[in-house]
Amino acid sequence: MLASQLKNKDVCLIETNSKIGQKIKVSGGAKCNITNNLVTCDNYLGNKEFVKKVLKNFTNEQLLAFLNKNGVYPKINPKLVKGTYFCNSSSDVIEMFTKLTTHIKKYLNTKVIDVDYDEVFTIKTDTKSIKAKKLVVASGALSYASLGASSIAFDIASKFGHTVTILNPALVGFTVQKDQFWFKKLSGLSIMAKAKVEGKSFYGSLLFAHKGCSGPIILNSSLYWKKGKMSFDFLPGKKVKKLLSGNALISSRLPLPKRFVQEFLTSIELEDKPCNKLNKDEIEKLETIHNYEFAPAGNFGFTKAEVTKGGISTDEIDVDSMQSLKVKNLYFLGECLDVTGELGGYNFQFAFSSAMSCAKKI
Ligand SMILES: Cc1cc2nc3c(=O)[nH]c(=O)nc-3n(C[C@H](O)[C@H](O)[C@H](O)COP(=O)(O)OP(=O)(O)OC[C@H]3O[C@@H](n4cnc5c(N)ncnc54)[C@H](O)[C@@H]3O)c2cc1C
Repeated sequence: MLASQLKNKDVCLIETNSKIGQKIKVSGGAKCNITNNLVTCDNYLGNKEFVKKVLKNFTNEQLLAFLNKNGVYPKINPKLVKGTYFCNSSSDVIEMFTKLTTHIKKYLNTKVIDVDYDEVFTIKTDTKSIKAKKLVVASGALSYASLGASSIAFDIASKFGHTVTILNPALVGFTVQKDQFWFKKLSGLSIMAKAKVEGKSFYGSLLFAHKGCSGPIILNSSLYWKKGKMSFDFLPGKKVKKLLSGNALISSRLPLPKRFVQEFLTSIELEDKPCNKLNKDEIEKLETIHNYEFAPAGNFGFTKAEVTKGGISTDEIDVDSMQSLKVKNLYFLGECLDVTGELGGYNFQFAFSSAMSCAKKI
C-alpha cells in the first residue's frame, strides 16, 4: 500500500518472495477478507488510543473507496464473521497493487538479513547491499514462515533500541488436554456455538479438528486467551431443560449432530437415555452443555497462526507518521507493531491504515 502512494522514483521495495502480497493471496480462503464495516479500536489488542488514531487516518470507508477507485469491489459477506468484506478474488487485490507500483524498483527473491546505520541505512540482503535515507519496515511478523514471514522487523527494532513485547501465535486453533480428547473424535464436524474467554464472547462456527478445535470463534478466542480456562455454550439461545421431554433419547431431542451429543454425554459420564428417565442430578449435569469449561493445552503454533500477537511497542512510534521515536527516518508498519486485530478483516485494515498514515507524512 505504501509503495503505491510514493510517486518518487527513488523508492525500492525488497521482498523475499518472487511475488508481492503472498499473504493477501491466501487470505479469506483466496477471497481476501479485506476489511469490516464495524472497525473500532475495541477489535484490537494493543494501545487503544494509538489504534484509534491510526484507523482514523485511513478508515474502512476510505479503504473501500480506494479499492473501488482502483477496480476492486469487495462485498459484505457476514457468513463467518459479522460485517466482513470479501473480494471476488485475492488476485484482484494483488493485481491492483502490482499495477499501482510499476514505477517502483522491486527487488524480489531478496531477503533482508541485517540493517546498519551510519548517516544512511545500509540494508544487507542475501544478494546485495542497498543504501537508503529512509527505511520503512513492513515485513509482518512470525506467522506463516512458509509465506515469507521472518523475524527481521523485530531484529531491526531491537538493534535500534526498540522494545519488542512477547510474541505469541494468535488467530489460531487450540490443542486440548486429555479430558477434551473427545473433540478429536469429532474431527471435521462443525457446530454453531458461543465461546467465552477473558470477558469476551464470540458466537459462530466451532470446528472440531484432529489436534483439538478451530473455526472462527476459536481463532478469535486465541487472541484473548491467557492460558487459563474458557467455556463453550454448545446450545446458544436454547434451554436444554425445555428440550428434554418425552421418551425419545437425549441425542434425538437435542438440535445438534448426534455424534456430537453422544461424545459430549460420554465426556460428562451420562448415558444416552430417554429424556423422561432423567433424574434431577442428571439434568443438572446436562446443563453443562451451556457452560462447558475447559483449559486448552496450547495452540497450533506460528506455522498455522494467521497473525502474531505482540510486537514493536507503539509507545516508541509516532502515531501520525509511524516513524520511530528513537531513530529518525526509520518507520514500522502493520503486523510487526504491537497491534493485533480480531478475525474479520481487521488486520489488513490496520496494515493499510498504518501504511497510509506513513504515506501522508513521508
Ligand atoms: C492464512 C492467512 C489468512 C489471513 N487472512 C486474513 C484476512 O482474510 N483478513 C485480514 O485482515 N487478515 C488476514 N490475515 C492476516 C494478514 O495477512 C496480516 O495481518 C497482514 O498481511 C499483515 O500485513 P503486513 O504488511 O504487516 O505484513 P505481510 O502481509 O506479512 O507482509 C510482509 C512481507 O514482508 C516479506 N518479508 C518478511 N521478511 C522478510 C525479509 N527478511 N526480507 C524480505 N522480505 C521479507 C514477506 O514475504 C511479506 O511479503 C491472514 C493471515 C494468514 C497467514
